[in-house]
Amino acid sequence: MKKAKRKNTKATHGPKILDGKKIGEEIKAELKVKIEELKEKGVVPGLAVVLVGDNPASKVYVSNKRKTCEELGIRSFAYDLPKTTTEDELITLIKELNANPEVHGILVQSPIEGRDIDEDKIIELIEPNKDVDGFHPINKGRLLNGQDCFVACTPAGIVELLIRYGYRPEGKHVVIVGRSNIVGKPLATLLVQKSEWGNATVTVCHTRTRNLSTITKSADILVAAIGQPEFITGRMVKEGCVVVDVGVNRVEDPSRKSGYRLVGDVHFDSVAKKARAITPVPGGVGPMTIAMLMKNTVKSAEKYLLSREK
Ligand code: NDP
Repeated sequence: MKKAKRKNTKATHGPKILDGKKIGEEIKAELKVKIEELKEKGVVPGLAVVLVGDNPASKVYVSNKRKTCEELGIRSFAYDLPKTTTEDELITLIKELNANPEVHGILVQSPIEGRDIDEDKIIELIEPNKDVDGFHPINKGRLLNGQDCFVACTPAGIVELLIRYGYRPEGKHVVIVGRSNIVGKPLATLLVQKSEWGNATVTVCHTRTRNLSTITKSADILVAAIGQPEFITGRMVKEGCVVVDVGVNRVEDPSRKSGYRLVGDVHFDSVAKKARAITPVPGGVGPMTIAMLMKNTVKSAEKYLLSREK
């Protein structure tokens, strides 16, 4: 009798790639259905994206947001203002957008490069019901209280990505490196909520944190939002952790036509050897951020429809 051939049981190693591009596409497909429903009821979701100045990275972000609006059938209101724009001029525009019933979301791209413009003042002027970036203090306060609100798109995208891949944060120790107002702090707030997408135990680290590696090594889920290329290395993570890399850093690369390439805050190769799952850069958190912006805009349009029907 012939001996049965031995099966090749060699495990294929390597972490699961948390593909933000793929999940972002899924979310956009879901949104398209909702957008059609809204249109049938006479509401076309509208997003105003305001760019002041000519920061190259901002231009790319703004163009991606507008293209995604077009792709989904969201009406895009584009305002590209020169560096010479004054605070008063920008205030006038925001007030007009607040009053325009066809605009359901308003986003002013940061950094605002105009003449001595107070960014906080501008954000606070946006009608909270149209603040689809989730940066208005009212939305941040409502998030802290566990109330319905617009959640900042990057933190919302991170949680959505984890959950759609089955890595629910509940009961896990999530370590976030970075405490910015747009990523670290709102993400921590979201994750500690008593809710189906929260219930995590959260540690937030920053430049004054002592023994950073000891803390990052204790993470079940590690989020790097630092802004330092490839800062988190393999020796800083524990075997089997889930790693989310928020960082987008340009590093010189003469082999590329552009002269640079994008890397995250995580040293992918060394961390991937130990992680159970990891987000790539690009293609991880970035596309999720845009998808969540579209989701917030549709949510705002739905709320508008409800208020009109009352
Ligand atoms: P900020 O510069 O506002 O914050 C960086 C944070 O990292 C700060 O809290 C800082 O601490 C901390 N930090 C910096 N160096 C160290 C260090 N050596 N050790 C420990 N902590 C450190 O950055 P953002 O939150 O705005 O962005 C972070 C990264 O994410 C950037 O690369 C950015 O481009 C990217 N990003 C990506 C988005 C996406 O959609 N993919 C969206 C938003 C941001 P301290 O407070 O003490 O200074």
